[in-house]
Amino acid sequence: MAPRTMKAAVAHRFGEPLRIEEVPVPAPGRGEVLVKIVSSGVCHTDVHAVDGDWPVKPQPPFIPGHEGVGVVVALGEGVDNLKVGDAVGIAWLHDACGHCEYCITGWETLCEAQHDSGYSVNGSFAEYAIGNAAYVARLPKDVDYAAMAPILCAGVTTYKGIRETEARPGEWIAISGIGGLGHLAIQYATAMGLNVVAVDVAEEKLALARKLGASAAVDARSPNAVEEVLDATGGGAHGVLVTAVSPKAFSQALNFTRRRGTMSLVGLPPGDFATPIFDVVLKRLTIRGSIVGTRKDLAEAVAFAAEGKVVPTIERRKLEDVNDVLQGLREGHIQGRVVLDIGTP
Ligand code: NAD
Ligand code: ZN
Ligand code: ZN
Repeated sequence: MAPRTMKAAVAHRFGEPLRIEEVPVPAPGRGEVLVKIVSSGVCHTDVHAVDGDWPVKPQPPFIPGHEGVGVVVALGEGVDNLKVGDAVGIAWLHDACGHCEYCITGWETLCEAQHDSGYSVNGSFAEYAIGNAAYVARLPKDVDYAAMAPILCAGVTTYKGIRETEARPGEWIAISGIGGLGHLAIQYATAMGLNVVAVDVAEEKLALARKLGASAAVDARSPNAVEEVLDATGGGAHGVLVTAVSPKAFSQALNFTRRRGTMSLVGLPPGDFATPIFDVVLKRLTIRGSIVGTRKDLAEAVAFAAEGKVVPTIERRKLEDVNDVLQGLREGHIQGRVVLDIGTP
C-alpha cells in the first residue's frame, strides 16, 4: 500500500528553484499504474522545463523528471499487461492517442495528443509517479535501477537519433555535445559498428569521450575544429548527431557533415541557426529533427544496457540536491548523468 503523501520536487515559477514538498500520492486512473520511484535521471530537458525555455511551456505547479525507474505498486482499472512488483520505467512519452496517423504508423512520438512526463503530466522527481500501462518501459527483474535510469531518455533518444542519421556500420558519426545524451551516444554508436568523433567545449568531456571509445575528440572552441573533424573522418562524418545545448554547435556541425550525409538534431537549446542554402543543396545534405524514441526504440535501447553494451557514467545524488544538479547542467559541469536516489524497490 502506498502512503497518502509523498516527497516531491515541485516547480512553481519558471527560473526559480524547485521546492521539496509533501504532496498527495496520485491515484492511478483507468489504464494507469502507480510506480514507486527508485531512481530518476536528471536530463537537460528538465532545465528547459523549469526555466520555461521552449515555445510550448508546462503549466506550474508541476513535478519534472522523465528518466524514472521503479516498481509498480498499484494498478488502475483495466490494466492487464503489468502486475504489482514489475520493474518499469517512466519516459518522456507518457502516453499518446493510439489512433492518429502517427500512432498507427509507429510514430507515436509525433502524436499531437501525447502527454509528456515531467512536462504536461507530473514526472519522476517524486517518491511516486503515474505511468501509463501501455507506455511504460518494461525492465528486467534484476535491473540495476540507478544505472538504467539514464536509458529512459538519454539512451533511447540517442539510439534513435543515431539511426536517424542513416550512418552504416564502418562509417563515421560525429557526436557534438558529450553530456548525458552524448556520452551514451558514443557507446550506442560504437556498439552499432560506427566510428565516432566526439565534439564538446570541455576538456573533461572530451577525455570521457576517448575513454568511452571515441576515435577522436575535438574541442569545438578550437579555430580548426571543423578541419579536425574533416581530417579525422576523411572528408566529413556520414552521420552527425547534435546534442549540444548551444545553437552555435548546430552551425558548426553542418560544416563537418559529409556530402550526402545526414545531421540529426537532438539538442533543444532555445534559438535558431543559419542553414547556408548553397552548402545544403550542393552537398545534398539532410537536416533532420529527432525526438526521443518509440516504445519499440525504448525496448531496444534498454536491451543494449541490460546486456552491458552501454553503461551510463553516473553520479548519484539525493532528491534534495536537485536544484544543485539543475544548476550544474546550466553551467555545463555535469559529467555523464546525475541520477537521484529516491526510494527502495
Ligand atoms: P547535458 O547538459 O548533459 O549535455 C550538453 C553538452 O553540450 C555538454 O557536455 C556541453 O559541454 C555541450 N556543449 C555546450 N555547448 C557546446 C558546443 N558549442 N559544442 C559542443 N558541445 C557543446 O545535456 P543533455 O541532458 O545531454 O541534453 C542535451 C540537449 O538535448 C538538451 O537541450 C535537451 O533538452 C535535449 N534533449 C532532446 C531530446 C530529444 O528527444 N530531441 C531528448 C532529451 C534531451
Ligand atoms: Zn530527457
Ligand atoms: Zn496519436
